[in-house]
Order: sequence, then C-alpha cells, then structure tokens
Amino acid sequence: MNALLAVADGRQQLRPACETADPELFFAHRLATWEIDQAKAICAVCSLKVTCLRDALDRGEEYGIWGGLSEGERRTFKRRTALTQEAA
Ligand code: SF4
Repeated sequence: MNALLAVADGRQQLRPACETADPELFFAHRLATWEIDQAKAICAVCSLKVTCLRDALDRGEEYGIWGGLSEGERRTFKRRTALTQEAA
C-alpha cells in the first residue's frame, strides 16, 4: 500500500491506517464477517480513505477491502455512480 502514501500539505506525509494491520483482514480469499468488520473499522479512521477508494475503483480492484468498501459494495457504488451520471 505504499502507493497510497500521499503528501497532504507539501510537508506531512499521510500513512495508511492499515499499514501495520494484518493484510489477511483485507485480502483473504474468503473474508469472514468479523474480518470484514475489522478491516472496515480500520478504514473508517484512515485519512486516505477517499483516495484509496477512488484508486481502487479506477484500477477495477475486484477483491479485498479498499476505502472501507467490500467488492460487492464497490460494484454497487460504481453502478449507482454510473446511473447518477446518466441521469445528469
Ligand atoms: S482506506 Fe483502508 S485499505 Fe485504504 S489505505 Fe486506508 S486503511 Fe488501508
């Protein structure tokens, strides 16, 4: 997740909240509900959450928890965003 490091104000470097977390919480082949909940709780306090989600959507990440959303939630988010853009 080093690609997620960002420069906030030109001096301070933000770090992902998951940096020291167990990657299995985010990327296990089959995540248990408690793992998903724990990963989302970590994402909830991450200062890179919006950037992380946007990058995952741009890359078309199919698996794992990114920006606090699961695979299914990202697919739903993309569909709703596409519908909203069509309606505009
Ligand atoms: S939003 Fe979640 S997955 Fe993304 S960098 Fe932050 S803690 Fe990691």
